[in-house]
Amino acid sequence: MRTKMVAGNWKMNKTLQEGVALATEIKEALKNQKPACEVVIATPFIHLATVSQVIEGSPIHLAAENCADKASGAFTGEVSAAMVRSTGAEYCILGHSERRAYYHEDYAILREKVLLALENGLKPIFCIGEVKEEREANIHEQVVKDQLEGSVFNLSAEDFAKVTLAYEPVWAIGTGLTATPEQAQEMHAYIRSLVEKKYGKQVADDTTILYGGSCNAKNAAELFANPDVDGGLIGGASLKAPDFCTIIAAR
Ligand code: PEP
Repeated sequence: MRTKMVAGNWKMNKTLQEGVALATEIKEALKNQKPACEVVIATPFIHLATVSQVIEGSPIHLAAENCADKASGAFTGEVSAAMVRSTGAEYCILGHSERRAYYHEDYAILREKVLLALENGLKPIFCIGEVKEEREANIHEQVVKDQLEGSVFNLSAEDFAKVTLAYEPVWAIGTGLTATPEQAQEMHAYIRSLVEKKYGKQVADDTTILYGGSCNAKNAAELFANPDVDGGLIGGASLKAPDFCTIIAAR
């Protein structure tokens, strides 16, 4: 049975104090809720160590939103996978479309980041997805195939088993446009078929594939009802504890 998961991606939002307040509110709300899935919050680097203490003893797991593609050394302003892990974070989002687009993270850079995350005991949440023009040109399947082959299909089956995939059509991120449940299911099933071709049926069956892109308290249940949609990576709606907890309850 693969892990079902709802993960929040706070992006570059919330001061440290606001972040602590949000993590506390989610923790309190989940006391009554008893989540039926793995709950993850991905915070900015500066929040990690403090939020790690806030969520102790709760069902919430912690993620970073990124890590460096170098192990250590003279890389001013960067934060290594080892540093992330030392805060208590267990997961690391990698390959988010905003990192690919604005910080030019290509397949090779992401391959390094994934390897460093794994070497340091972090489980990658690896994002893939096509832009609007690619969907319109009907090459969305080829795009996600290339993204997987470029950065994670080099892993051993043992390491790949530690990776959570997140299908995030870029045209749906932060736009209010959501993939239809049919579009999400179709792509998730396709992604799982690629994993099966590469690693076999058992690994494919065990791979958690999240949907991300304007998933919210209203549409989450409909998206999660699909057999290959194992949960969500949630941006905007993860910044409000009641909405985030409603999405968790939908999984
Ligand atoms: C994201 O950035 O991973 C995301 C899914 O954002 P949003 O939910 O705001 O579309």
